[in-house]
Order: sequence, then C-alpha cells, then structure tokens
Amino acid sequence: MSANLSRQSAITAITNYTAPEASFSFADTKPTELFGCNVFNDNVMKDRLPKKVYKSVKKTIEEGAVLDPTVADAVANAMKEWAMEKGATHYTHVFYPLTGLTAEKHDGFLSPDGKGNAIAEFEGKLLIQGEPDASSFPNGGLRATFEARGYTAWDVTSPAYILENPNGTFLCIPTAFISWKGEALDKKTPLLRANQAVNKSAQRILKIFGDDSGKRVVSNAGPEQEYFLIDRNFFFARPDLQMAGRTLFGAKPAKGQELDDHYFGAIPRRVLSFMMDVEHQLYKLGVPVKTRHNEVAPGQFEIAPVYEQSNIATDHNQMVMTTLKSVAKKHGMACLLHEKPFAGINGSGKHLNYSLSCSGHGSLFDPGENPTENAQFLIFCAAVIRSVHKYSKLLRAVVATASNDHRLGANEAPPAILSIFLGDHLSEIFSKIQEGNSPTPTSTGFLKAGVDTLPPLPRDAGDRNRTSPFAFTGNRFEFRAVGSNSSIAGPQVAINTMIADSLDYIADELEAFMGGDESKLNDAVNKVIKDIMDTHGQIVFNGDGYSDAWHKEAVEKRGLPNLRTSADAIPEISSPEVVELFTKYSVFTKEELDSRTEIYLEQYNQAIVTEAALVVKLAKTHIFPGAVRYQKELAETCANMKTIGVPFTTDVLTEVTDKLRSMQAAVVELEKIMDAKPSDGVEEEAKYLCCTALPAMLEVRKYADSLEEVVADDLWCLPSYSEMLFIK
Ligand code: ADP
Ligand code: MG
Repeated sequence: MSANLSRQSAITAITNYTAPEASFSFADTKPTELFGCNVFNDNVMKDRLPKKVYKSVKKTIEEGAVLDPTVADAVANAMKEWAMEKGATHYTHVFYPLTGLTAEKHDGFLSPDGKGNAIAEFEGKLLIQGEPDASSFPNGGLRATFEARGYTAWDVTSPAYILENPNGTFLCIPTAFISWKGEALDKKTPLLRANQAVNKSAQRILKIFGDDSGKRVVSNAGPEQEYFLIDRNFFFARPDLQMAGRTLFGAKPAKGQELDDHYFGAIPRRVLSFMMDVEHQLYKLGVPVKTRHNEVAPGQFEIAPVYEQSNIATDHNQMVMTTLKSVAKKHGMACLLHEKPFAGINGSGKHLNYSLSCSGHGSLFDPGENPTENAQFLIFCAAVIRSVHKYSKLLRAVVATASNDHRLGANEAPPAILSIFLGDHLSEIFSKIQEGNSPTPTSTGFLKAGVDTLPPLPRDAGDRNRTSPFAFTGNRFEFRAVGSNSSIAGPQVAINTMIADSLDYIADELEAFMGGDESKLNDAVNKVIKDIMDTHGQIVFNGDGYSDAWHKEAVEKRGLPNLRTSADAIPEISSPEVVELFTKYSVFTKEELDSRTEIYLEQYNQAIVTEAALVVKLAKTHIFPGAVRYQKELAETCANMKTIGVPFTTDVLTEVTDKLRSMQAAVVELEKIMDAKPSDGVEEEAKYLCCTALPAMLEVRKYADSLEEVVADDLWCLPSYSEMLFIK
C-alpha cells in the first residue's frame, strides 16, 4: 500500500459510510425507568437485604461508620443473585491505579462442585477483598517484587453495577487498591481519606456556629467533561493520535474556530446519535448526565452530569470517559480525551465544580438567608482563599501532566498561575472586612452592614469570569485547570485536605479569640477574615487571567508562583509543606507522596519520549517520502522544460528542497538530543525533556507543517486538520 492511500482511503471510507442511529429509542424506554436499572442501589438493597444488614450498610454509606465485616456474606449473596438474574456470569473488582485509567480483573461466579457440575459462588470474603495480579501497575517503589501483591478492598460507599457487553454482562464492584502494608496504590484511597479529613474540620466550624448535630459534611463534584470526536478512519491514518493522543504534525486549517460558529451550534446528526447512545448507557449505570453541547472548537463537545458526592462523582467520571470511548467506536468515530489533540485549536479541560455540603445546610458555599449563615459562608470562603494561596503550588501540581501543559496558559484555558475569582460583590465584602469597615450598601442594595447584620447576599456571582483557574460561581467553586484526560480524584484530594487545614486554622483562631464567650463570635469572625485577607488576599483576582499584564503583576507584585510546566510542578508533591499537610491529616505518608512524585514524573517523561520517537518516525516515514516524491516531480519537470528550452521557474523546487533539508537537520538534532538524555534521576530527565526535547520536536514540526502547505495534496499521506475536524 503506498503511503498516500492511508489518507485517501480514509476519506473514501468515510464518504461511503452510513453512520448507525442510536440502537434504542428514548421513545420506547423512558429515561426515568432506565435510570440506575443496572445499579445495585438503595432500592435494590432495601428489597433484597435482610433489614439488619441493610441498616448496617446504610450506616457506613451515609454516616461513614466503619463497615461491619459480618454483613459481607449477606450482601455478596444478594449482589450475586441480582447480577445473575441480569445475566452476569462474572464479577470484577474495579480499581483506579495511578495510570489514571480504570482497571478491572474478571472472575467467574461459577465453581466446579466436584461432581462434574458447577455452582454459582460469591462469598463475603470475595466481595471484601480481591487480589488482582496487578504487580505491573505503577507503585513508585512502594512494593518490592517479593511483596508485589496489591489488594483491592470493597468501597461500600460507591454502588456496584452491571456492565453490558454484546456477549454477556458482568458485575462491577468499585474498590480501593492498596499494598499489603495498607499503602495507597490508587486514586480512590486518598480521596476517601481526604473526605474524612474535611468532614472532621468542617464540623468543628459548624459547631462554633451553633450546629453540633454531628451531621456529616461531604464534598461534591460536578465535572464538565470536554472531548473531541473524529472519524475512526482518520484516527487510524494518524499514528500520532493513536500512540500519543495528539497530533504532532498538522498545518493550521483555513477555517478554524475564529468564527465561533460551532459553540452551542446545532449538534450534527451523527454526533447526536452518539450522544444519545452514551446517555442511554450512562443512565443505566445511574450516572446523572444532564447537559450536552458543542464546544468552542470544531469537533469538540461537552457532557456534564449533575453533581454528586465526590467519591461517586469520581467513579462516575471514569465511567463517562470509558463510555465515551467505547460508544464512539460503535459509531465509527474515535473519542479524543487528550487535552490538546490539535495545536492552535482549543484544548479540552474538565471544569471541576466543587462544594462542601451538609444536610440541613445545603452547600456551605451558598450565601445564607440570615446573618449567622452569612458569616459561616464567609468563613468557608475565607478557608478557600487561604488554601488556594498557601497551597497554590500543590494545586498546580495535581493538574500537571505532559498533555495538560499544552493547554494551560494557552489563552483558552486558565494560566498556570493560580488565583481566585470572587466576583465584585464578594470581593467588596472581603475588602471591607479587611479594612476594618462594615460593608456598605451597593447600588444593588445587597450589602448593608458588617458581618453581624449581613442581609442575604447576592446569590449570583455576577460576571462569569472564564479566565480564572479557581472561580466562585454562586454556590460552589469551579477549578478549571483540570485536564480532560485526568481523574478528578487528585484535585479533590488536594482541595479537601487543604480546606481541612484552613478550617482547622480558622477554628483554632476563633476558639482562641472567643475564649468560650459566644457573644464574641462576630468580632472573632471579622478578625480571622481580616488576618486571612492580610496574609492571603493577593490570591484574589477578578480581572483577565489571560493577559500579559496579569502574568507580570501576579509574579512581580503579588509574589504568586508561576510553575509553567509539569517538570516544575510535579516535584512540589514531595515538598516539605505538602508532606506536612498530608501527613497531618493522614491522607498520605511521606513514602506515598514520594512514590507519586516519582510515578508522575516517569509518566511525564514517558509521554515526551514516546512523542519524540513518533516525531522522528513520522518525519522520516510519512512526511519525507511524500515531499521527496513531489520534489522529484518538480525536478523532472524543470529538467524537461530546460531540454525543450521553455523557461520554467524553479522557485517551488527550491522551497521544497530547503524545507526538506531543514526538516532533516531538525530530525538529526532531535535524535542527538534524545540520545543525550540524562539518566541521573526522573526529575533531571523531566527538566531536560521539557526544556530541550519539546522545543526540538517543535522545530521538526515547523518545517513539516510548512511542507504540508506546498506539497501536492495527493502526495500528502496524513489526514489534515480540516479533514479531521470538519468531516463527520
Ligand atoms: P457551566 O458550563 O455554566 O459551568 P454546567 O451546567 O455545564 O455549567 O456545569 C455545571 C456543573 O456544576 C454541573 O455538573 C453541576 O451539577 C455542577 N454543580 C452545580 N451546583 C454544584 C454544587 N453546589 N457543588 C458542586 N457542583 C455543582
Ligand atoms: Mg463550568
């Protein structure tokens, strides 16, 4: 097969392709009947579990009580019966290793009974603990080979569910993945720990404000998932997309996103059919997906669920990512979750909407109906202000991946500098308190007095500032720097733990000031807020986060860190202040943090090494041959013309030849750079790859892309940006 067939045949295949309609119709099955039908949820448990067992499990789920192991047999049995009635033959402990992906190991329910028959078996101990042969998952030195076992532990708080396949179904049990010493090897374990930490600290605050009911405070997440869809034929004609998740070459399309005609535009029929199929599957799994729309870039879309408790929202987001990918295949497309599949075109993020809530209070970031609630609201916001400032490097580190670096700070996504957007109203209140003045009425009449008599605050944050990495949006904060491809667990672990720390700091201060005298609460609140604003107020910024002026001001005047790349950011996970924070709340040990730093740096390095190898290979095997063929044609034409004495300009030939020569030189340079890669530690390697290899790859790309602009179209074998983005 000649090289150019890959692109041309992709186009032919797409032209002849009839996209399938969604394989079901919402007209036949109502979404309400569908929702959660494959989930071992509360209703199923109530129906099928002995009352005592049901109550005990509920207590663990709702109040965080320690799981009573004696109930496991009963639950396992009910789960098995339920799953087998739904056609399941196997069960799997689903876990979330540090690769960021979802992992599963399948076991059959059937066991031989010794008489030539098989019986269905699933006992409590199989439910509670599994031992996948998972020694090849990254562990950053936590597991020496002789103790390479990792265990999965049943997470009662995230419901089991059934996954359907064309050839059968199986029961999925969400689990934590830990070493035999109990060290976290996954993304879930620290999240469960961080949830406990923030609950405890938040309750201290609620108690100071008069609520000592001990009701659990939970953190919630609503992740808005962005993604690209392209036809699968194009995907398979682009080795870079397949292997690296992003295009390493590609000239800018004539039509990009400048016209903004895609955003919220009508969803193409093929895509709509895909989306409905995705929703159909996710409804069955009890994932409350709610919104779907086109995004800014051509070929880019978003799916967002209604927010849920953090642990469940995290598992559900993993299901969303898996489902998007598998359903895309069914519809003849590939779903790209990479943060920047196409240079120069908007990338994909995952806005993490975050709140803390408690039954009876709703969101603790919701301005209240009366003065006490408002003061409490301000205290929770103050905790966020202190946290984001004090731990801004950590927040940058938990969104650091090789792929997200291409998006952050690229004038479409928040900058790598962390700041908080509060909106004008809320900022004014905080400034007034800092100045020692009571907030005065504004033209809207919302704010009248000091904390002690604050009237209802405006619920709407006003302008929706899209350039802020951490924005208050009325009743929650939106962390916008998270990458589309990442698990949302890491960011939530960090946010919950830093807020726990700030709430404890505030509780200590309030208690010390009041000395047991409740009447001093308002003065104490004012003082704590003033102190926090004096020390951490420079993190508040309501302006344009994309502007150069802000970058200058943030770093030079406000002293905010600007960790531009993941190579700078990831090592922060092991910094003394971060170790102190996480060990204080028993969310991570130092060893666990060090292992994560190492794993994330290794992943960063691996991503760039893979990309560099692909750049070299594609330049040599895809771009060079096409350009040389064109060069040959041009040279022959010139020679022929010369023989018959017709003047013919050699400009194009010279241009192609120059660009080819430059590209070759750049490839040689890149190869040299990769050969000289240091081997004295992952951190040095990361810095080197970031500062040396990435620019050298761009150099190759520069010439390759400029060749794409001149080489005959029929000789160019990689599908172009406009084809991939616009042909559906
Ligand atoms: P926008 O694009 O304007 O930010 P979306 O509706 O796309 O809005 O997404 C908002 C997300 O925020 C949804 O997932 C929504 O459920 C979630 N959300 C709303 N309220 C809260 C809250 N109190 N805590 C956490 N997430 C929330
Ligand atoms: Mg949003």
